Amino acid sequence: MKRIFLLSSSLCLAGFAVILYANAEEKSEVKKPVIEVSPTAPEQPTGPVERTDEEWKKILTPEQYRILREAGTERANGQVYEEFKKHGGGTYYCAGCNAELFTSNEKFDSKCGWPSFYDPAKAKNVKYSTDFHLGYARTEVLCKVCNGHLGHVFEGENFDTPTDKRYCINGTVLKFVPHGGSAPAAGKTDAPAKAK
Ligand SMILES: [Zn+2]
Repeated sequence: MKRIFLLSSSLCLAGFAVILYANAEEKSEVKKPVIEVSPTAPEQPTGPVERTDEEWKKILTPEQYRILREAGTERANGQVYEEFKKHGGGTYYCAGCNAELFTSNEKFDSKCGWPSFYDPAKAKNVKYSTDFHLGYARTEVLCKVCNGHLGHVFEGENFDTPTDKRYCINGTVLKFVPHGGSAPAAGKTDAPAKAK
């Protein structure tokens, strides 16, 4: 009887170990990239993009919502930074509204733990505000089209770049389209064809 009990409990433990192992295997599978990478450049917004909080929550991940809509900050030196460093040449778009914001031309390695650029690619799509969240004035960088928080810009830190500015941007709220990606599909829309 005792033997049966021992046998069944060790079988039980073995079963549990298999389940644990299977779970670990599942978790070690390739992680979905945080920075969305698309082969196709998104169509550019033609005017301001406004949505309710509920609508934003539907189209953004919780982390994107926290950063874009609540001026949050992603973790420094995390998965996002690793992905960003590995990107080749290409263009970065706002995850909220698809507006073009930065390109790899202005990207540089500031080693600060967040994606860094020395200038926006489309200055018209970026706006600034002063925030005092840390008790002192910082220049906040926002997407001008959807009013989403992107990060901050710092000046005069002696980086060897054309502007000596560091746009310290949350990569979580960017979409990346590598060079060679196709242009927005102009003329190829879902709109019904005009009757002849
Ligand atoms: Zn935007």
